Amino acid sequence: MSRYWSAVVHGLTPYVPGEQPRLANLVKLNTNENPYGPGAKVLAAISAANTDDLRLYPDPTALELRRAIAAHHGVKVEEVFVGNGSDEVLAHAFMALLKHQRPLAFPDISYSFYPVYCGLYGIAAHGVPLAEDFSIRVDDYITADIGAAIFPNPNAPTGIALPLAEVERLVAARPDIPVLVDEAYVDFGTESAVGLVHKYPNILVSHTLSKGRGLAGLRVGYAIGQAPLVDALMRVKDSFNSYPLDRLALAGAAASFADDAWFQQTRAKVMATRNTLVDGLEVLDFEVLPSAANFVFARPKTGNAAEINAKLREQGVIVRHFARPERITNFLRITVGTDEQTAALLAALRIALGSD
Ligand SMILES: *Cc1c(COP(=O)(O)O)cnc(C)c1O
Repeated sequence: MSRYWSAVVHGLTPYVPGEQPRLANLVKLNTNENPYGPGAKVLAAISAANTDDLRLYPDPTALELRRAIAAHHGVKVEEVFVGNGSDEVLAHAFMALLKHQRPLAFPDISYSFYPVYCGLYGIAAHGVPLAEDFSIRVDDYITADIGAAIFPNPNAPTGIALPLAEVERLVAARPDIPVLVDEAYVDFGTESAVGLVHKYPNILVSHTLSKGRGLAGLRVGYAIGQAPLVDALMRVKDSFNSYPLDRLALAGAAASFADDAWFQQTRAKVMATRNTLVDGLEVLDFEVLPSAANFVFARPKTGNAAEINAKLREQGVIVRHFARPERITNFLRITVGTDEQTAALLAALRIALGSD
């Protein structure tokens, strides 16, 4: 604390990212990164952009990348907004579209950045409890007195997907409010709502290259919606930072959309390993929520998640444990790594549980 701080800074409760330990040889399954990383074509494109041109500002409209994204999704370039990670895209959306007189609704168990942005931008939050089985109940959003809604699909940290028909039911029932569907994990088996964008003017869908495309370190995310929604994001962006994506990021991200083979292969591998992980956890007497993401959310039926987390860490295996809210304190969120990492995790779990 300091007397030089603004009142806003005094009032902030910042997001706490999963740690990025510096130790080598860790089995790092705590931040949902993709174990396969970017393909050779992306790395080559980044190297090719590493020239004297770095003295020049990048394209403030990111036109080439937005064209690649538009072509990939079958939408128009005016319907695509890009930012420095989808966290930045979300931040701009909170300010541009989700801040209204009435509160913003999101699941009570969800991405913990949402309440942080509410604090930053002075938006009232309306937490909507998940159902008993941790699924999102669309009816609660349809009947609530709210100014906007946001939820991840699949949800984080549960991994549970909401069927596309349910997303559409909400968007269609609430033409009075913007609905943001955060599809950070959509590449691992959830039906995307991007196809609803041309039918409904009130839906914005955000994606990231951090998870499915193995580019968390490049910081690229985007949103798709009708042009007036994208215009709102552009207005905020150009009131904040005209060049959120540097030349290397623009080049690498565009190349990712040009290498569909790598994308398809690596996401298929992650989904296959997810099955191995789920089976292994069930053998060890964990309850595993049905995951459509590159992580699973699992609860030891007998045993304490916080203690297991500590015992995994002693063995160099890092997963994520949330100390609150109460309903999820006995769960562990485990990223789907390679087959080798998954085997190492399961071996460490057997030791942690004393079943070895
Ligand atoms: C990882 C994640 C993001 C942010 O991704 P970026 O790396 O900032 O693109 C957004 N929403 C959810 C739910 C996430 O898990």
